[in-house]
Amino acid sequence: MLDLDERLALFRSNPFLKDAPAGLLSEATATATELTFDRGEFIYAKNDTAEDFYLLIDGRIGHPEVQAAESQYSIAREVATPGQLFGFAALVQGMPRRVISARCEIRTRVLAVNGHAFQALARSAGRAGHELLQALTRTFAAHERGVAARSGWVSLRNVGKVYDPLGKSVVAVDDCSIEIRPGEFCAIVGPSGCGKSTLLNAIAGFDSLTSGGIELDGEWINRPGMSPRPGPDRIVVFQNGALFPWATIRENLVRGPIVQRRMNEKTALEKAREMLTRVGLADIEDLYPGAISSGMCRRVEIIRALVNDPKVILLDEPFRGLDALTKTVTHNALLELYDLSAKTVLFITHDLEEAIFLADRVLVMTTRPGRIKQTIAVDLPRPRTMDLLTAPEFLRLKEEAIEAVHEEAVKAFAAGERELA
Ligand code: ADP
Repeated sequence: MLDLDERLALFRSNPFLKDAPAGLLSEATATATELTFDRGEFIYAKNDTAEDFYLLIDGRIGHPEVQAAESQYSIAREVATPGQLFGFAALVQGMPRRVISARCEIRTRVLAVNGHAFQALARSAGRAGHELLQALTRTFAAHERGVAARSGWVSLRNVGKVYDPLGKSVVAVDDCSIEIRPGEFCAIVGPSGCGKSTLLNAIAGFDSLTSGGIELDGEWINRPGMSPRPGPDRIVVFQNGALFPWATIRENLVRGPIVQRRMNEKTALEKAREMLTRVGLADIEDLYPGAISSGMCRRVEIIRALVNDPKVILLDEPFRGLDALTKTVTHNALLELYDLSAKTVLFITHDLEEAIFLADRVLVMTTRPGRIKQTIAVDLPRPRTMDLLTAPEFLRLKEEAIEAVHEEAVKAFAAGERELA
């Protein structure tokens, strides 16, 4: 067992905690619990309630889900440095349950610290406490808006989909794992027919899966054997739009939440008006969809999705067919609304420049059967503006994406030729 001085030294060996307020450290040191686990034991498992975080004393723990999903997590694959902190992400994301598990790869000792008490203490410890929490949050939440959003965590776990039209089976997606963090803007690109829409439809609840499963905030929403259902927590914005032509823009925007009794008219209208103003459409609410341009319609559709207050917005090539100038205006509007709403966004597109300009992360899919071939982290600051399009880092990312997609497109083309032959 570590004595108090050894515990304190362990806390201080952690780069986040070394300058933490003394009162906070002595409280955490005194109240921590030392635990020992054998090889193969779980310190916490997926779906456990998230109460504590941990400091490694010695040993090695791994996160099996992270190891399985390769680079799609921002969380380290394993923890092996004494003093290293883990199990904090679910706490700062405000998630009630663990999304990944921690398994001991050898006999391991840890100090367990009550995360809620620690955060409350840090909040009351003045500026240094706030800075500590901020640093931890930045690192462990990986995405600050994710913390504000708190919900909308989408996990695709080894998803597979086989279509079986007339007995000629088509493996559209195979063993595809993706984690989309709360509040993250994630884009999926890939050659035609690689399974992008299949994934989106499965998340939306429009279609079933053959294997694997999809979770939203730790609850299964789609897996073999269950009938998936669309829900107001996941809203899809389609390419072809779906505004009611007989209703005014205002009626189109407020109808959904009122019919579902999620909001009264006044609240819905306030939300809608705030967003319309944000994207320069303050004076169109009495018009009918037929009287506004297609670019405006797209902006209204996105607002309509957001007024419903979903956890996740799914966009399936929503700007296809818009001219370049309109597309630019619409991109800016989407970014404004995204910064305002802190929702999780999954965006499917063919347009690589669009994907990089909008997203935090671009996933490139392989040709059918679709899997994730490459993850491109877009670490460009927000709010994003047009001048980014010519920045060297932007161009470098674009080149990386073009190369990855091109390789797959060539494979898809060759496969098509084989099928035709
Ligand atoms: P993407 O969106 O990337 O263009 P899709 O998800 O639409 O790709 O399609 C993936 C593959 O699955 C394609 O080969 C497509 O032909 C096939 N597919 C999609 N939907 C069906 C279906 N309902 N029945 C049979 N095959 C389908």
